[in-house]
Amino acid sequence: MSQATKLIALDGATISMKERHLMMGGSDRVIDIPIPSFLIEHPKGLVLFDTGCAPEVATDPEGYWGPATKFLRNIRYTPDQVVDRQIKLHGYRPEDVKFVVVSHLHLDHSGGMKLFPQAQLITFKGELPYAYWPDRKARNGFILADLLPTRGFDWRELTEDADLFGDGSVNIIKTAGHTPGECSLKVRLKRGNVILTGDTIHIRPQLETLAAMDSDYDIGEASASIRRLRDMQDSGEAALWISHDPDDWKRYEHVME
Ligand SMILES: [Zn+2]
Repeated sequence: MSQATKLIALDGATISMKERHLMMGGSDRVIDIPIPSFLIEHPKGLVLFDTGCAPEVATDPEGYWGPATKFLRNIRYTPDQVVDRQIKLHGYRPEDVKFVVVSHLHLDHSGGMKLFPQAQLITFKGELPYAYWPDRKARNGFILADLLPTRGFDWRELTEDADLFGDGSVNIIKTAGHTPGECSLKVRLKRGNVILTGDTIHIRPQLETLAAMDSDYDIGEASASIRRLRDMQDSGEAALWISHDPDDWKRYEHVME
């Protein structure tokens, strides 16, 4: 049975957010959330899941993100945590990344896309138009300067779940709702399956309540997507790695085989 040979969690920025901005019914407690990306090594090529914040954010967050910094406070991000530097630190070449799968195009996931002009970029249909021209309430979540440099890139827009290499080892799962094209990535490793949830789930307590986020594009769909991932976890199909959950960042090994 084919599998990916390695899953590597790449360090990124940390920001502070109130729990109630991460899930409906949450408290005023401030949580420090990690913003990782993930590199998957497969015999047929490297896959990057999410790309973190733009390099510019490491030096001038207010200048680059503008009004979004009102909600995303206390950004801690060094040039060494930018995704291309992280890939090099782990001994790979950024130009060898063949596929970049973005969970969605919010500013903390799409900032590094412009660093991979040679790769195929993969998202779900509906995400790109929404990111370029979002609803007014969602506008601060997308940064045009993250998107514009990628207009000429090789974009592939999916409409349903996809098996990236055709061997069952890396599957892109449609988990829309947070945004129109939100997706997750299921990676089969020697040790078992891991699902990288992107922002389908923000923090682990959402698995209990299925509570979406106030600012989700479609709250009902977002909640159904959380349930879909919870069912996959409960049936033993895969472990869930919730990108922004600080406990998951501590729970899992950062290099897995
Ligand atoms: Zn996010």
